[in-house]
Amino acid sequence: MTVPENRQFRLKARPTGRIERSHFDFATQPAPEPGPGQALVRVQYLSLDPTNRIWMSDMDQYMPPVAIGEVMRGGGIGVVMKSESDRYQVGDHVMGLTGWQDYCLADEGENAMAVLPANLPIPLSAMLGACGMTGLTAYFGLLEIGRPQVGETVLVSAAAGAVGSVVGQIAKIRGCRVVGIAGGEAKCRYLLDELGFDAAVDYKASDWREQLAAATPDGIDVNFENVGGEIMEAVMARMNLFGRMPLCGMISGYNSGEPMRADFSSILMRRIEVRGFIVSDFMDRFPAATQELATWYLEGRLKHQETVIDGLEQAPEAVNLLFDGGNRGKLVVRVSDD
Ligand code: NDP
Repeated sequence: MTVPENRQFRLKARPTGRIERSHFDFATQPAPEPGPGQALVRVQYLSLDPTNRIWMSDMDQYMPPVAIGEVMRGGGIGVVMKSESDRYQVGDHVMGLTGWQDYCLADEGENAMAVLPANLPIPLSAMLGACGMTGLTAYFGLLEIGRPQVGETVLVSAAAGAVGSVVGQIAKIRGCRVVGIAGGEAKCRYLLDELGFDAAVDYKASDWREQLAAATPDGIDVNFENVGGEIMEAVMARMNLFGRMPLCGMISGYNSGEPMRADFSSILMRRIEVRGFIVSDFMDRFPAATQELATWYLEGRLKHQETVIDGLEQAPEAVNLLFDGGNRGKLVVRVSDD
């Protein structure tokens, strides 16, 4: 086999605001040769996530920041092209940290990639979305930290996005009243008409605070927080006593470089239980949860929506869609064909 070319985005400079192409070197080199215990993987789908922006920065974070000169970190799915490992067979689909490149090496041990079952009845990209890390984030944040009860009001922000849309659907499956906050009328209609939410609040409308009050006449029992800032504060001010708040993300602050703040008075007065989490906290329970998400998906109870961008070369500009609200559901880059 001739050695294929491997295009890679390497971080050149840390963004101070929006992500620009100039923050990366886009270089081409021969794909690496797998050593003993390794496999060569051709990347098919790259997951674009708000956390990519965090990893590019040197803010306090849950993994080391991507070093200057390093291939940009990113989750993805690929196919094994060549293997020197018993763990990986040629043709296997694998999932893990592929990086922003055409080819990567899969290792064994603690950094091993997950091998997906053959003949999966689920589209590959959904394994990055509703049935993958995105779905798992929604699942554990909502069910373990939010602990919603039948009939309670669950509110989720960034509700038409990847995690938010799954949170709302799981809350419906669990018999809750679900309110979503999203930007624009079209996304709000999507929440109501296609995902079955009970109410939607358009935070880009001038009367969004009134909309929020009208949508939550009995207050809010669980706030699945994805956004932070003034939306979070307005939501917290409507929470019921002893409400729960899984703190999943604060995307409104990621580009600012400023510390992400919250008003603690609502937490005290309403005795809100706030817990930050990272999906990997629940790693030992991923297999059973993935099974449940996949079952809901195959039963038609959990919809996977995605926004697909074609071409690895689009990755830096495409991440900004997450900050502009340009995506609906999971944002992925198709790097090569299935
Ligand atoms: P999404 O698909 O939800 O995309 C981000 C969405 O956020 C956009 O579509 C946009 O929707 C909304 N948004 C962006 N900026 C703002 C803003 N300033 N104010 C209000 N809304 C805004 O991304 P994900 O589902 O991947 O991530 C959602 C959140 O979950 C993020 O905070 C992310 O960091 C977090 N996360 C946390 C994980 C964990 O383990 N803790 C794992 C995965 C994600 P709109 O058009 O409605 O404005």
